[in-house]
Amino acid sequence: MPPNTTQYRGRFAPSPTGPLHLGSLIAALASYLDARHHAGEWLVRMEDLDPPREEQGAAAAILDSLERHGLHWDGDVLWQGTRGAAYDKALAQLQGSGRLFPCVCTRAELGPDGSCDGRCANREREKDTPCALRVRVAADTLIRFTDRLQGEQALKLGATLHDFVLRRKDGLYAYQLAVVVDDAAQGVTHIVRGSDLLDSTFRQVYLQRELGLAQPDYCHIPVITTHTGQKFSKQNQAPPLDSGRAGCNLRLALRFLGQPPPPARLGVRDILDHATEHWSLAHVPRGMDRSAASIGLKD
Ligand code: GLU
Repeated sequence: MPPNTTQYRGRFAPSPTGPLHLGSLIAALASYLDARHHAGEWLVRMEDLDPPREEQGAAAAILDSLERHGLHWDGDVLWQGTRGAAYDKALAQLQGSGRLFPCVCTRAELGPDGSCDGRCANREREKDTPCALRVRVAADTLIRFTDRLQGEQALKLGATLHDFVLRRKDGLYAYQLAVVVDDAAQGVTHIVRGSDLLDSTFRQVYLQRELGLAQPDYCHIPVITTHTGQKFSKQNQAPPLDSGRAGCNLRLALRFLGQPPPPARLGVRDILDHATEHWSLAHVPRGMDRSAASIGLKD
């Protein structure tokens, strides 16, 4: 569905587990350009939900990198670390509708997909026993949505991804819960992000329905992969972006996204203005991934 240009609010939601790399710049740029092309707002939300996985200074480095690449956001950054009360409220709502159950399974007891196979489904919460909180997904639950780039999507959620965790045993809130609560709280209408999150979207749409929240439009763009087919990530030693080469980085990201090359010798601002004006989702290659080699990078 083409975005309604009078009401568009997009966002970029990095996790502060490391500095921005080309893969995350591509996601940030695609969501920025889609928002700005449709005269929309573009927000930044920091997913600082998991302090043990955070890298000291990464959040500040990400924000600095975004600014140095000209990707200025609207309003204040929303820090998920401050949003516990909102997540608790959503958990209480699900508890009230009988959708939550406590799970005491150890990691070794869980299936390879992280499910507890209904072992705890009828368990009552016991005071002082550490437990994760899972949301019930009925076996026949089917989730469908239309992705603006990848087309019709359908998944039997109940048969594949099962009851999933919303609050971990260590008390940390799960990404799936926090992202749904905050997309709704911030009035996000359009989500453009990497295809590695497509699986998560089924869970998020399910939670939106259970919580009575509006469903944003989704668009999952291909992720950039190394020559061995792995997603660029901190774990794969994806190099941090050199903000001194912001113009080159933006040009590479635009090439990856199939967009027309901006004229030579433009500065960062003019590259972005050109790219905003010419942004076309129709030119973004479909598919879940695309190699770095396809844009002339060795990785
Ligand atoms: N923090 C996630 C990531 O860095 C993105 C989450 C989202 O866009 O919903 O992959």
